[in-house]
Amino acid sequence: MTQNLFLLPGDGIGTEIMAEVEKLIAHLNANGKTDFATDKGLVGGCAYDAHGKAISEEDMEKALLADAVIFGAVGGPKWDNVPYDVRPEAGLLRLRKDLQLFANLRPAICYPALADASALKRELVEGLDILIVRELTGGVYFGEPKEITELGNGQKRAVDTQVYESYEIDRICRVAFDLARTRGKLVHSADKKNVMKSGVLWDEIARQVGKDYADIKFEHILADNAAMQLVRNPKQFDVIVTDNLFGDILSDVAAMLTGSLGMLPSASLGAADPETGKRKAMYEPVHGSAPDIAGKGIANPIAMVASFAMALRYSFNMVELADEVEAAIAGVLNDGLRSADIMQDGCREAGTEEMGAAIIAKLDF
Ligand code: NAD
Repeated sequence: MTQNLFLLPGDGIGTEIMAEVEKLIAHLNANGKTDFATDKGLVGGCAYDAHGKAISEEDMEKALLADAVIFGAVGGPKWDNVPYDVRPEAGLLRLRKDLQLFANLRPAICYPALADASALKRELVEGLDILIVRELTGGVYFGEPKEITELGNGQKRAVDTQVYESYEIDRICRVAFDLARTRGKLVHSADKKNVMKSGVLWDEIARQVGKDYADIKFEHILADNAAMQLVRNPKQFDVIVTDNLFGDILSDVAAMLTGSLGMLPSASLGAADPETGKRKAMYEPVHGSAPDIAGKGIANPIAMVASFAMALRYSFNMVELADEVEAAIAGVLNDGLRSADIMQDGCREAGTEEMGAAIIAKLDF
């Protein structure tokens, strides 16, 4: 059955790294591994230049209908002064909101060849494979009231509201437990139940959900301790599920265990359709449009290719193929090929196209 991918390369290096994913898709299709139909749209600054908006209604519609959206990166100095509601990032936020992508998946995988590039000792990170599942549409970033008020005495008061309803906690925890079932069968739920009511509810619901997953080990951890443990002994974790704010911070900590920004993929998932079981989903590298290197052909395509591998795994259940693409990335790194951002002594530097081609050449077909 043909599966529809909607590609949104965006701005800057977004177009350069997406080109490598397009070549990979063509290779998979040509070898009968997949039957992807692709369509391409504009998002970010390029969409503003074309339509005066960060994403057109037509492209939004295509994103809503696609089996998965593959997103590059948006932004750049050219659009620094465009009106706030049509700035490049507004396209990304609109996609997340309209597709109702409430679960953000950030894996932190340490490729053996790059273990020495981590800020931590090799033995702490070698073979690391953890997944942070962050709630993306609720919590303190969106709760009301959210305001700064003048107190009239020369002072001001700022309020953000941390608010979660049980259904929001329940659905993100179910995503985490489902994913743990395909991995190491361990879930840590991180909150601050010692000082926050939202943490008390978070823990109550997480434990309740856990009862439906007798095969998965559940551990509670305070979010501050989770930050500490991530740098002390990260391999003790498999899946960590947490709220929007703590997830923002913990996923960045976990990401940096593995080295460069050019290596980090992510996925954002919505609710499963009750009839088809399919989720809306968007896959994107963690990094931005890197205007400082855009157009030079030196961007690292690995985060983008690894994001596409996540699409194979999570949207299309092509687990073996996802494993093969990830093994191809590891193989290229083992061969000593490096883009400029991860260059090491004794390795050979390669541009975006050469890295992309080498990953495809590493596949067994
Ligand atoms: P950035 O992630 O674009 O770049 C930070 C640094 O990392 C730069 O030195 C860049 O050259 C390097 N880098 C990033 N990705 C790389 C790759 N694949 N290969 C090699 N080097 C890489 O962050 P920034 O410079 O703070 O932001 C640039 C623009 O991107 C801004 O307009 C920002 O708003 C936007 N941005 C977009 C997203 C997104 O689309 N999701 C995320 C972050 C930033």
